[in-house]
Amino acid sequence: MIVWSLRFLLFCVLAAAFVYDWPWYSYAIAIALYIGVMVSFSFRIEWRIYLDSLLKQPDDSVALTFDDGPHPETTPAILDLLQHYNIKATFFLIGEKCEQYPELVRRIMADGHQIANHSATHAYSISLSSRRAWRDEIERCQRQIMTIVGTAPLLFRPPYGVTTPNLSKALADTGLTPVGWSLHSHDWTSSVSGVLKRLNTVDQGDIVLLHDSCPNTVEALTSWLPAVSKDFDFKPVVTTRV
Ligand SMILES: [Zn+2]
Repeated sequence: MIVWSLRFLLFCVLAAAFVYDWPWYSYAIAIALYIGVMVSFSFRIEWRIYLDSLLKQPDDSVALTFDDGPHPETTPAILDLLQHYNIKATFFLIGEKCEQYPELVRRIMADGHQIANHSATHAYSISLSSRRAWRDEIERCQRQIMTIVGTAPLLFRPPYGVTTPNLSKALADTGLTPVGWSLHSHDWTSSVSGVLKRLNTVDQGDIVLLHDSCPNTVEALTSWLPAVSKDFDFKPVVTTRV
């Protein structure tokens, strides 16, 4: 809706520029502003502009979600912690890493966690993909996971949290449900104390973004889980919408 409103606004400005014979650079400014706003929407998954992503649990539970694995060192450490506190989580796995470490994918499944799709390659340029390229990324990851554990994921999280109209169309083609988050731990860029500060703001219904490929995450969870494991009902992402 907001995208069509912006398009209409751009059309009106360009029409006014034509009718009133505004200088040429007024066209350039209007188009540049339009493109800038559209691109900025891509970086705000929580605004649900291009994708109607799940951002919260539909109940009082808290979902811990781990992106970018499996990783040979940090994923086992996180699985050990989750097992110790009897917490089930969601792992958004990268297909090519699954092929490298299939035993970790099998363990994630055997430990009772939810396995989800985080693209086949997680390439830096992936957000610029066409609809067809996105579909290929998503379907390849589905096959890579299927081959290892025998079931295909139902959920998808966009790499870098970047959403685009092409990704939206590819997800409609593949039928997967997009998932964002309501609490970003910033574990990839913050100190352990910074991660703990954010984790301590967790509330019922939150979907928490973490990375099982990050040593800081292991350290932060080692300190945090003993304090909160009995305070919240931790469970994987629930697919019912709120
Ligand atoms: Zn990622």
